[in-house]
Amino acid sequence: MENAVRVEGVSKSYGSTIALSSVWLEIQKGTIHGIIGPNGSGKTTLMRILSSLTQRDAGKVSVLGLDPSVSPLQIKRIIGYVPENPALYQSMTTTEYLNFVGSVRGIDSAHHDSLTKAFVKSLELEEYVDEPIGSLSFGSKQKVSIISALLHDPQVIILDEALKGVDPRSSRVIRDLLKALSRNGKTVLFSTHVIETVDTLCDRLSILYRGRIIDTGNAAELIERNGKGGSTLEDVFLNTTSEAPVGNIGDDLAGMMGSER
Ligand code: ADP
Repeated sequence: MENAVRVEGVSKSYGSTIALSSVWLEIQKGTIHGIIGPNGSGKTTLMRILSSLTQRDAGKVSVLGLDPSVSPLQIKRIIGYVPENPALYQSMTTTEYLNFVGSVRGIDSAHHDSLTKAFVKSLELEEYVDEPIGSLSFGSKQKVSIISALLHDPQVIILDEALKGVDPRSSRVIRDLLKALSRNGKTVLFSTHVIETVDTLCDRLSILYRGRIIDTGNAAELIERNGKGGSTLEDVFLNTTSEAPVGNIGDDLAGMMGSER
């Protein structure tokens, strides 16, 4: 199958901090690929490099045949990027902001109107559309950010911890939408440190830790290669991405807190 994204030996440092260290990754077109890693493992840096927002120090990157550092404008046309923290104009209302995005993207206005209405209804934002974005909850801002990244029907969708703070119903709607888009040939890259939902959402997963890809495969392969009998994906994630085993830390802390009721 055709690769939509190819990352070959990519490295990136900020001063003396190594954010990515020779990362190799291939993502097939029409699949959902998860990047799981604890805070600081390099997920955002990798996604920003693919989206042309950060320059790599070394290595090669191709997104549908384009190098983000050479063709940033074309990359922005084919990618929908949802940053970890929504970067929105706080004083605009949701309607104003989505109309602004539609006009910048050059989306046909009749299509834009019906699409934004459907998104707003499906993600239960109707009562907030005329409120300034600055007054919305984090989860509602995140929903506006997701809608604005999808309106131009991008070929590649990059979501950085995008479901953080989103209520369970809308989270489900968005995950179902991403699955439907991938069936239609769109490629999705989804980063998270929340393990519960990734194995049902993603076709393949990469574990990223301290700027290195520890392993890539589907959930069963990752468990088989990195776990013991009875291990879950969460066990594998915790064992491969932390220096200190979780063990009985929770029980020990509860014990130290005393037994009074
Ligand atoms: P994640 O998304 O997995 O939390 P990041 O890519 O944000 O990881 O960060 C990887 C490492 O790079 C961290 O040590 C982080 O502190 C560092 N880092 C990220 N962005 C910057 C920056 N703009 N300046 C300095 N250090 C950064």
